Amino acid sequence: MTSGRIKLLPDHVANQIAAGEVVQRPASVVKELMENALDAGATDIKLIVKDGGKSLIQVVDDGQGMNELDARMAFERHATSKIADAKDLFNLQTKGFRGEALASIAAVAHVEMKTKPEDAELGTLIKIEGSKLVQQVPVATAKGTSIAVKNLFYNIPARRKFLKSIQVEMRHVNEEFFRLALAHPNISFSLIHNGNTVFQLPKSNRLQRISNLFGHNISKKLVPVKEETDYIKIHGFIGKPEFAKLRRGEQYFFVNNRYIKSPYLHHALMTAYDGLIKDKTYPSYFLYFDIDPQHIDVNIHPTKTEIKFDDEQTVYSILKVAAKHSLGQFNLSPSIDFDHRPDLDVPYNYQKKSPAMPQINVDPDFNPFKEDDFGQPAKISPKRMEKQLAYWENLMHETRDLSDDLTEQTNRSTPSLDIESRINYKTFQLKQKYIVTNQNGHLLIINQHRAHQLVLYHDLMRHLQTGKMPMQQLMFPVEIQLNPLDLDRLKTFQPKISRMGFEILIEKDKVLIKAVPAPLKTAAITEVVESVLKELSFENTGELSHIETLMAQIIAEQSAVKTGQTLEESEMQNLVQALFRLEESRYTPKGKKVFVEISSTDIDRRFS
Ligand code: ADP
Ligand code: MG
Repeated sequence: MTSGRIKLLPDHVANQIAAGEVVQRPASVVKELMENALDAGATDIKLIVKDGGKSLIQVVDDGQGMNELDARMAFERHATSKIADAKDLFNLQTKGFRGEALASIAAVAHVEMKTKPEDAELGTLIKIEGSKLVQQVPVATAKGTSIAVKNLFYNIPARRKFLKSIQVEMRHVNEEFFRLALAHPNISFSLIHNGNTVFQLPKSNRLQRISNLFGHNISKKLVPVKEETDYIKIHGFIGKPEFAKLRRGEQYFFVNNRYIKSPYLHHALMTAYDGLIKDKTYPSYFLYFDIDPQHIDVNIHPTKTEIKFDDEQTVYSILKVAAKHSLGQFNLSPSIDFDHRPDLDVPYNYQKKSPAMPQINVDPDFNPFKEDDFGQPAKISPKRMEKQLAYWENLMHETRDLSDDLTEQTNRSTPSLDIESRINYKTFQLKQKYIVTNQNGHLLIINQHRAHQLVLYHDLMRHLQTGKMPMQQLMFPVEIQLNPLDLDRLKTFQPKISRMGFEILIEKDKVLIKAVPAPLKTAAITEVVESVLKELSFENTGELSHIETLMAQIIAEQSAVKTGQTLEESEMQNLVQALFRLEESRYTPKGKKVFVEISSTDIDRRFS
């Protein structure tokens, strides 16, 4: 019998491939090693780093250690002590469970491990270089485990070269350290860089840990948040609005003591700050969620910074209400909440009730624009101009009429929302940039590009969730030339990119795009692919899991109507309706304001 063409990859090759996913840079090693230490029940964890982790990353813990056999097994692929069978996946309490971190790290670095369980006389020393066991001997060592990882990517020059400066790599290392230290205040941590002790954090509570990391005056800048329901508990601290910063940074969500990234929860929180902070400023937050692991799915990416709640919308609402409540309690919210939308709030007595399934009212086929409506140069006929003026006048009339009952409305504790008035928007386009309309006596000025972007973004995300992205076959495939690094990145993410609705053919050094997600215009394809690749190259450890969100953002941004485009009345109405059908319509996915609202009181004031 002749042998077939299909062969199993040798282990060290498989490990190197796996390493590509798990180990992106020194910070990824830091994360994996520190998580292992936490899983081993350590109460004290030391992180020792040289040259931003490029020369050395060492984690020393006082956890349960490993015996001789386990010490060797730990470096095998799919070797884990944390799960025994698939159903354990649904009840995870540990950080790791895939059993691929150590194998991956050892495939691309020089690793030296000393480990000893409490009851053993002697411990084990193991040296592994590029997956090859170099040495294994008994050694006298303290209880616990010390793993030193040297010369990361020594055997993959392309990746070694790809590492950034010491400062940049150290920033990422720091960030991982922060995330883990914040998640586990009851454990002492230290960080030593090039021989200097950067942090020495004693066992403490959450607020003390935050202060120890960010400086002691930070506690004056925070207010506590607390909300407990049967479904989820939220505890933590959020920044007072006046201390919002120009730079994003101190923003942390933890779910069951695991740092997570969530543009969705971020958005929920930002709505609580609405009107309280200036554009382009970012409040700090440290929020800890506790939820039964049955309700979340962490298994969507090996680096696990994104999770899925089985009832996302409930979490969204609870967080928003809890944060508003905190800001309000500390007298930080304006007394009249003009944009209060009772249909979105969770009543405060939600507590202790189990969540009802949220109702989603979306029309999956809704598309506010038809392709051929766009792309023509702006022309306004005199007749149209007249029509627009008429609308404008009409609008001002209505605003005036409504201003009278506004006084009455604000006296009520929950202003009732006139659903009908949200169906028939009268609209008017201003400077081919804004759509002006009114809602409940407020003048709304909507940025057309941003509004469309948000609507498209939500469409894309929804289709992504249902796995049915509408695609558009291209008559003439678009060809893009890429450099090897970008090509490599594209290959890595090809499955996700296809889920997004792209059909891609990779040939040697070029890429053929044969189909794209429906809203994307041919002219914007290259732009989108390049932006996606650019974002990928900036991505940090573990953050690649939100690549889909990112693609959706970019596609929406590129496909949305632009400033300078004239819109028909019906197009504007459709857009406005689609916009307000969204659960949250105030900010684009990147946090830019979609519309401004001027209350009739404000207008009255201007006339006084
Ligand atoms: P995972 O954490 O997904 O199980 P790893 O490759 O990170 O996979 O680790 C493999 C195994 O090695 C772990 O399941 C654990 O049993 C053991 N291990 C790793 N690091 C430590 C440590 N610091 N202390 C004790 N055991 C460890
Ligand atoms: Mg692990």
